[in-house]
Amino acid sequence: MLENPPLTNLQTRDIESLVHPYTPIHQLKSTGTVIMGRGKGVYVYDTQGRAYIEGMSGLWCAGLGFGDEEMIEAAIEQMRALPYYHIFGAKSSEPAIELAEKLKEIAPVPISKVFFTSSGSEANDTQVKLAWYMNNAMGRPNKKKIISRIKAYHGVTVMAASLTGLPSNHNGWDLPVDRVLHTDCPHHYRFGIEGESEAEFTARMAKSLRDLIEREGPDTIAAMIAEPVMGAGGVVIPPKGYYEAIQAVLDEHDIMLIADEVITGFGRTGNWWGSQTLNMRPKTISAAKQLTSAYAPLGAVMVPEDVYQAYVDHSATLGTFAHGFTYGGHPLSCALGVKAIEIYQERDIIGHVRKLMPVFEQRMKKISEHPLVGEARYCGLVGAAELVADKSSKRSFDPRNGVGPKTSKLIEENGAILRALGDIIAICPPMIISEAELNELFDRLETGLDQAE
Ligand code: PLP
Repeated sequence: MLENPPLTNLQTRDIESLVHPYTPIHQLKSTGTVIMGRGKGVYVYDTQGRAYIEGMSGLWCAGLGFGDEEMIEAAIEQMRALPYYHIFGAKSSEPAIELAEKLKEIAPVPISKVFFTSSGSEANDTQVKLAWYMNNAMGRPNKKKIISRIKAYHGVTVMAASLTGLPSNHNGWDLPVDRVLHTDCPHHYRFGIEGESEAEFTARMAKSLRDLIEREGPDTIAAMIAEPVMGAGGVVIPPKGYYEAIQAVLDEHDIMLIADEVITGFGRTGNWWGSQTLNMRPKTISAAKQLTSAYAPLGAVMVPEDVYQAYVDHSATLGTFAHGFTYGGHPLSCALGVKAIEIYQERDIIGHVRKLMPVFEQRMKKISEHPLVGEARYCGLVGAAELVADKSSKRSFDPRNGVGPKTSKLIEENGAILRALGDIIAICPPMIISEAELNELFDRLETGLDQAE
């Protein structure tokens, strides 16, 4: 690995002025920061002129890559027409209306209304508040707990972080986590018992969920939230039949399923929605990230008519429906959401993802043979390589060794950005990536892995 060079002036200003999210901030002065200056296609360029293939679409969000001219034009046009307006108090703007209509058209389940937020965390926070509001409206004031899963990632606002099932989001943060229950993570490789088949594992997951619900009392539980494919928890793809088994338990106890499609929405898994790929039947959906392909911040909560009617009834009793964000439904973000969906449709981005999936699969299978890799898993164009100290026993590295972050640094030195989630290297390239660029990305990943060995 290269020695860290002295910090540039811009790096020094950066470290002296910014609190960097999700960063070991105590190390920044020695590691320095990489400051990006521009991007085009799947490439980003730092201010020192180095080029990187952005193998994570930024944070799983820039599905259309960088510098798309149609997106830029759509932004300019909206900026000129109306750079900001809100949708509070019966005001509205055309981009918000148009985007809500488009989301209703492409939703995987019947959806009649859309509530806009500025982020995925806000969407999930809103989901919880709306579930509480709905159950109050329906005369079920005790039905309030939310089930999430170990290793889930749902964001960082107080409630979304409480839903998240990762220790680093809880340790040291003093979150008020009552009303949140965590059930098992459906990762067979990590949590399967020796000799247990995927079908047996799935049955155990469903039983464990049922036990939890019965222990707590079904009448106290409003909803379960789940990412079709877990992202930040390590790209966990549940075994076949998992959601069908889980869903049967939830249906039995009148507990609604919320799909957190913040990563999996808009083609990432080879269908419009991860719910379609994974056979989920959610009642409501959270979306963000590729909703605008990250050209502007936006989140959405998508609800069916009966859920919406409960809000209307409650508002009729209580008065104003008092929830909303200054930037929820921002016209610039919504115009970019409309344009992103048009591009996904007109350029058949999902068809392109499907064409690339066999290449992705073949390269992931090759990665799985690497001596450092315990499991290489994938779904559509998202995947991960789990690095282990011992392949046959699946023994993990001591986390203090920082093998994952060191490996991702090596990959970066080879000109590709991938994300270390502990010792799991995630890969989530822009959906517009060409076959040649995808192969180049994997070549750089393999070189980094070889150097880390
Ligand atoms: N839900 C999932 C599945 C996510 O992956 C993320 C972010 O990575 C979030 C929610 C939170 O979204 P945001 O960072 O926009 O608040």
